[in-house]
Amino acid sequence: MIYLDKTCLGGNFHKIFEQKGLQFEVVDGSDCFEDNKKNIYITSQKNRFVHQCPATREYRCCNYMVVDAVEGCPFDCSYCILQVYLNHNFIKVYDDLEGIRESIISLDKSGKCRIGTGELSDSLAIDNILCMTDFLIPIVNKCENIQFEFKTKSTNIANLFKHNPKNVIVSFSLNPQEIVNSEEHFASPVVARIKAAKELSDYGYKVSFHFDPLIDWDNFEELYGDLLDQLFDSVDEKKVEFISISTFRFIPELADIIRIKFPETKLLSSRFIRGLDGKMRYFKSRRVEMLRFIINRLNKNWPTVFTYFCMEDKSIWRRLKGFDPGLREEFEKNFKWYRNESIID
Ligand code: SF4
Repeated sequence: MIYLDKTCLGGNFHKIFEQKGLQFEVVDGSDCFEDNKKNIYITSQKNRFVHQCPATREYRCCNYMVVDAVEGCPFDCSYCILQVYLNHNFIKVYDDLEGIRESIISLDKSGKCRIGTGELSDSLAIDNILCMTDFLIPIVNKCENIQFEFKTKSTNIANLFKHNPKNVIVSFSLNPQEIVNSEEHFASPVVARIKAAKELSDYGYKVSFHFDPLIDWDNFEELYGDLLDQLFDSVDEKKVEFISISTFRFIPELADIIRIKFPETKLLSSRFIRGLDGKMRYFKSRRVEMLRFIINRLNKNWPTVFTYFCMEDKSIWRRLKGFDPGLREEFEKNFKWYRNESIID
C-alpha cells in the first residue's frame, strides 16, 4: 500500500500517483500504518541526498557517489545490510525531487563522477510505481560529468525504454539461482535478470554486473561457472561497461538478525574472520580462491571488460590483478569512462 504523508499533498508523488491512477492513503506520519516491506511511505523530510559511498581506508574503494532518494526495498535478501542500517522496514521515499535534482546538478559541476541509487534500495524494484527513472534520466543526460547507475535484482525495466540511454548504466546483481532461491527472497530469477540486461544493451544502454556478494557454497565453482557461462552466452562483451566482484562481508550485528529472521539460511555456515574495518569476512585464503575463480573466467571469456574488487585489500589486488588500484581518486581512474573509453557510441 502507498501512504502519502499529509505534508506531501499537492507534491511530486501525489501528482504522479494521480496521473497513473494509483491508490494511496493520506496519513499523518509513519506511525499510522504497519511497518512492513509492502508499504511505501512518501515523506516531505529533507535529506542529504548525495554523498560518497561509505568506505574505510583499509580496503580499496572506487570513489562511487550515492543518491539516497529511496530507503528500503521490497526484496528480502538474507544478507542485506539495510536490516541494520535502517530503523524501518517500509520503503521511505523523499518527495523533495527538486533537492535531488539540485544535488545532482551541483555534483556535475564539481567534475567527473560515477553515481547511483542502489545503496539504500534496489534502483528499479518499484520503478513502475515511483517512476524515478523518468525523473532522473533526463537530468543526468544533461550532465557533462556524470555516469549514472541503476543497480537492481529486478526486471522492472519497462520505463527505461522511453529514454535516451546516453549517460546511464543499468547494472544487475547476479548470484546462481540456487543461492537466489535460498538467500534473495522475492528478487527476480537470475535468468530473467540476464535477459533484461540483454534487452537493455540491445536498446543501447551500457550494462554492468555485480558479483557481490559472492557466497561460499558447497558446489561454488559449478554454480558460479554455470552462471558465468549463461552470461557469456547471452550478453555481448562489447556492451558491458564493468563488473564488480566481492565476497560476502557483514558487520557482526547483522549475524543475529539473519539467524532470527532466516533460520534456514546457509549464509553463516562458513568460517569468518574480523577484518580491519570490523566487518566479518571469509578467511583470506578462501576469498582469494573465490575471487580468482571468477576473475579467471572473466579474463578468459571477456578480456576487454574492466573488472574490479569492491572493498578488498591491496595485497589481493596485487595477487589477482597484478597492481594496486590506490585510494579513491586514483582507483576511479581505472574505469573506462574516466579514460573516455566507454563502449557505446
Ligand atoms: S535487493 Fe539489495 S537492497 Fe534489496 S533486500 Fe536485497 S540486498 Fe537489500
